[in-house]
Amino acid sequence: MNQEEFLLQHLTEGKKYKQICDENDSITLTELREWWETGQELRAQIKRSNMLFDSRKGKEEFAAFQKARKRAFFEWFRKQPRHCAYCGIEENKLQKLFDHSTGSLSTKRRRGRSLELERRDSKTNEYSVENCVLACYFCNNHKSDVITEDEHKLYFAPQIRKYLEDKYTQLQTDDNR
Ligand SMILES: [Zn+2]
Repeated sequence: MNQEEFLLQHLTEGKKYKQICDENDSITLTELREWWETGQELRAQIKRSNMLFDSRKGKEEFAAFQKARKRAFFEWFRKQPRHCAYCGIEENKLQKLFDHSTGSLSTKRRRGRSLELERRDSKTNEYSVENCVLACYFCNNHKSDVITEDEHKLYFAPQIRKYLEDKYTQLQTDDNR
């Protein structure tokens, strides 16, 4: 048992502190509390992964991931690069652009700040390891069942990237004024 294993068991398998202590002789509640306190970054990642999972729970097309459960979904999620699979914009730039108080972009439903779960081939309609990537709000919204993944990458993604990079540069310039 280590910090990562604790956070995974607690947050993706729903195990309570006490149960984890009972199952691991050498672990104390104090240690778990400390692991919780210092595990902010990993906690945020797991939380985001759980949100993506929960928002699709029960949908027929999500069955493959659901069967594999939250923990396996997180294992997939954490291996994904933290940039849009199509245009390449980094998630940390999106976070700054869509920041509530200091950003320059916003969406009604507060989307945009993090990468979204996107099906590469929307015709198969299935969420699976092979068919899913993380994409930015713009690419996710734009790619439709008319435009294929390759077409989106060729014709539209570079423009989206340019738009976002320009917006980002603008924001940095404004900040420094
Ligand atoms: Zn994108």
